[in-house]
Amino acid sequence: MRKTILTGDRPTGPLHLGHYVGSLQSRVDLQHEYATYVLIADLQALTDHAEQPELVRRNVLEVALDYLAVGIDPTVATIVVQSGVPELAELTVYYLNLVTVARLGRNPTVKDEMRQKGFDADVPAGFLVYPVSQAADITAFKADVVPVGEDQLPMIEQTVEIVRRFNRLYSPVLVEPQPLLSEAPLIPGADGRKMSKSLDNYVGVRDEPDEIREKVRTFITDPQKIRLGDPGRPEICPIFALHKLFSAPDRVRWIDENCRSGALGCVENKMNLADRIIEYYEPFRERRANLDATPGIVDEVLAEGAAKVQPVVEETMKAVRHAMNLA
Ligand code: SF4
Repeated sequence: MRKTILTGDRPTGPLHLGHYVGSLQSRVDLQHEYATYVLIADLQALTDHAEQPELVRRNVLEVALDYLAVGIDPTVATIVVQSGVPELAELTVYYLNLVTVARLGRNPTVKDEMRQKGFDADVPAGFLVYPVSQAADITAFKADVVPVGEDQLPMIEQTVEIVRRFNRLYSPVLVEPQPLLSEAPLIPGADGRKMSKSLDNYVGVRDEPDEIREKVRTFITDPQKIRLGDPGRPEICPIFALHKLFSAPDRVRWIDENCRSGALGCVENKMNLADRIIEYYEPFRERRANLDATPGIVDEVLAEGAAKVQPVVEETMKAVRHAMNLA
């Protein structure tokens, strides 16, 4: 029997190159190897966007379109919206009794995100406990495998702790998930830090060509290379890191040599990168525009997804309620 994989995104904004290289591309391949659920985690998006429910709803539809356009095939994988499966919230409530606030506060991924968002004692309770909601998602779908980057490993550890505690306390009904570590390189954003929606340093996969040029223009480069003729250090330059992903190997070698010698200027190199990114995502933009012009397609895919997960989630909930002596 095929193993089950759960992946997904919070619909807090557009998917960007970091998502594409880091996970979207591999999801398209993995969907043929695993029984695949792709979760659009709108309840988790609300944990730090509670005042913008319309934005979250709009992004649910946009992210679903992105999935279809990159090649997630709804006849193979199941795309599902978190709020369409109310049992996930019920399961979260049960799991909340199995973790402490202190343990949640020590979760390194949550700590990093809180720092980035400027949360302190004012952190929304829902945000602090979102790893518990993730544990509910993973276990409700009986996922054996969860693809993650290195920085997300603490989230899987937290789920494993909850699963073990539940299985020990009540009955061994939950599946313990394993992380599937992504081999994708870290994708730098405009400020050189990891590309991220919350840092607003990203290039979106659905950005129009002019937007891509404008964003690439703002990227930092080697601070020692101030003008044409100055020798540069491509190994510390985010533009070079992106060229390695989007340009042909002989072009990458040429950039390396000409940056070091000073012959290549940063503006020219950035505009060349923007052209490569625009060219690379052209078929995606075309597919997305065609899907966008097909009335009802996203609603149909999401309704089918909700219906497909229902028997699996219901089976988990029956076992959980029974193990906990609940009605
Ligand atoms: S020439 Fe290109 S690789 Fe070198 S520092 Fe400038 S942008 Fe970066």
